[in-house]
Amino acid sequence: MQRLALFDLDNTLVDRQLALSAWAMEFADDRGLGREAVRWLIAADGQGLRARDQFFREVREHFGLAQCAGELWAGFRARMPDLVRCEPEVLEGLSQLRASGWRVGMVSNGMADHQLAKIQRSGLGERVDACCVSGEVGVRKPDVRILQLAAERCGTALGAGGWMVGDDPEHDIAGGRAAGLPGCARCGSVGSSSGLGASRQPTGRFQVRWPRSGFCEMALTWAVLRACLRARRRQPGSSRRKLIR
Ligand SMILES: [Mg+2]
Repeated sequence: MQRLALFDLDNTLVDRQLALSAWAMEFADDRGLGREAVRWLIAADGQGLRARDQFFREVREHFGLAQCAGELWAGFRARMPDLVRCEPEVLEGLSQLRASGWRVGMVSNGMADHQLAKIQRSGLGERVDACCVSGEVGVRKPDVRILQLAAERCGTALGAGGWMVGDDPEHDIAGGRAAGLPGCARCGSVGSSSGLGASRQPTGRFQVRWPRSGFCEMALTWAVLRACLRARRRQPGSSRRKLIR
């Protein structure tokens, strides 16, 4: 299997929920909405899985704001990239991967300006070979075409195998497997193995599914995942996670 690792961004390489919490606190403080508003915003956000236009229409209506939903959404996209952090050991792990011959790509669903700004300002942009953001390329995970494009931008193709690493059971795990990538991992606190909707409750689990071969080749990618996990464990309020094989 070739040394290709494609990573998801939000809640995989960076803790998007931590940044969202910081944004919600700023948003509420700026408007004098109080602490309960922070909890409402975090819950209504739905871990980023809800359509953004719908979310900001609800925000506007719920708090009776004068700004239109589009302005609120634009403000969110402008601010979030400054709040997203990537832990140094994750950045170092990615550098080690590439230095040892791995091609490293990032595949993310979202608006191009928003996702690319997060990638650049977190320092991830210079640690990967290529990025594919759905808003830029016009196709979203779990569509296999975005993974194919990411592999091409990394100078290779999916036919020789590789790994898709992410926290979303449908977009990352099922998408990776549909693309024929034998190695898939799921990390983070979002989702369950049973799919979408109500089942997307925080599980507090860290799950890795290894293929029968390639375990040793994955050692460095595993090191990156462990770094992600350690970083998330250090975040205030992070739940203890279990390792399941
Ligand atoms: Mg994700």
